Amino acid sequence: MVSITLKNLTKRFGSVTAVDRLNVRIAAGELFFLLGPSGCGKTTVLRCIAGFNIPDEGEILFDDKPVARLAPQARNAAMVFQNYALWPHMTVGDNVAYGLEVRKVGKTELKYRVAKALQMVKMEKYAERFPNELSGGQQQRVAVARALVVEPDVVLLDEPLSNLDAKLRLEMRSEIRRIHETVGVTMVYVTHDQKEALSMADRLILMNDGRLEQEGAPWEVYNNPATPFAAEFIGETNFIKCRIRKISGGAMLQAAFGEIQAAGAGSASDGADVICSIRPEHVELVAPDGGDAPNTFAAKVLSVTYLGETEQALLDAGGERLKMLRLSPRGRPLHAGDEAKIRIAPESPVVFPK
Ligand code: ATP
Repeated sequence: MVSITLKNLTKRFGSVTAVDRLNVRIAAGELFFLLGPSGCGKTTVLRCIAGFNIPDEGEILFDDKPVARLAPQARNAAMVFQNYALWPHMTVGDNVAYGLEVRKVGKTELKYRVAKALQMVKMEKYAERFPNELSGGQQQRVAVARALVVEPDVVLLDEPLSNLDAKLRLEMRSEIRRIHETVGVTMVYVTHDQKEALSMADRLILMNDGRLEQEGAPWEVYNNPATPFAAEFIGETNFIKCRIRKISGGAMLQAAFGEIQAAGAGSASDGADVICSIRPEHVELVAPDGGDAPNTFAAKVLSVTYLGETEQALLDAGGERLKMLRLSPRGRPLHAGDEAKIRIAPESPVVFPK
C-alpha cells in the first residue's frame, strides 16, 4: 500500500475546469472518500489517479514516486466500476484470473490467488458461474475480487454501490469496510451519497465545482462544517439569519424567535449579520413548563413526519421555519398545531459570515 499525494491537480475539458488546483494527501492504508454533488469533479480525480486522465497541471505521487504521466498499467492501481464491468462470456473464476494471466503469473500461484480473492469476498462457491447468473451484489463482489487479486497498491472505487438496491447497499458498505480492514490496501472511493461517506470513510474530502470545500474525518466535517455548502451537503440543517450581540466573554445570536447563546460566535464582530447552521437533531423539545431557561424558545408545530424510530417536525418559531428531528417518543407523537417549547444548546450553532 502507498500514500497518495495530489499536488495542485488541475484537469480541464475544453472550457470546463473539472478539477481546479486540488491539494490532498491520502495516507497509506486509508479508506478515503471523494464526496460531492454530480459534476463536481470526483470521477475526474479518480481517473487521474488511475491514469485514464492526464492532468493539465499538477502532480500525483504514490509515496514519493510521481505517477501523473505514467500509463495506467505502470501504476499498480486497480479500479472497481459502478457497472461492475465483468466479461459476460467468462466465468467468475476466469474474470478474477484475467489480471493474473496478463501478468503471466504461473498456474499454481494463479489458482491459489483466485481462490483466496474469491474467499475474501465470500464468493468461493460461485467460481464456475457466469456473471448473468449472479445478483448485482454478487457481481460487485466479483469486481472487488478482480481488483484485489493483482495485489494493487491502490484500489479505486467509482460509485461501486449505486446500482444496488437499498438493503444490499447497506450490506455492501460493511462488506467493503471489512475487506479494507482485512487487506489493508489504500482505497479511494467516489460517491455523491453522504451517508455512504459518513458511515464508511476514515477521512473524506468534500468537493464543489472542481475545488476542495473541506477535508476531515466524517465527524469533523459533520460537526464543524467549514462553509454553508458543507453544512447543507453533509446532513440536513437549518440556516437562520442572525445578528451578533457581543457580551462579556462571548456572544449572543439575535434570531427572529429570540436570542441564542452560542459558543461558536466568539470571533464575529458586534452587530455583524451572520448565517447560523443548526442541525435538526440539535433542536430539542423541552417540557412545556421548561420555563424561561436560557436558549429556550416558543414554537408551533406546522407538520410532522413519523418515521418509526424517529420523528421529523417542521416548526414555526417567531416566523422562522425550523426542522426538528428526534427519537420517537413511546407515547403520542407530535401533531400539527401543537404548541412546543424548544431548546438550542449553546454548542450547536455553527456561525458563517453572511
Ligand atoms: P458524477 O457524480 O455525475 O459522476 P463527478 O463529480 O464525478 O460527477 P466528473 O465526471 O468528474 O464529475 O465531471 C466534472 C466535470 O467535467 C463535469 O462538468 C463534466 O461534464 C466534465 N467532464 C468530465 N469528463 C469529461 C470529458 N471527457 N469531456 C468533457 N467534459 C467532461
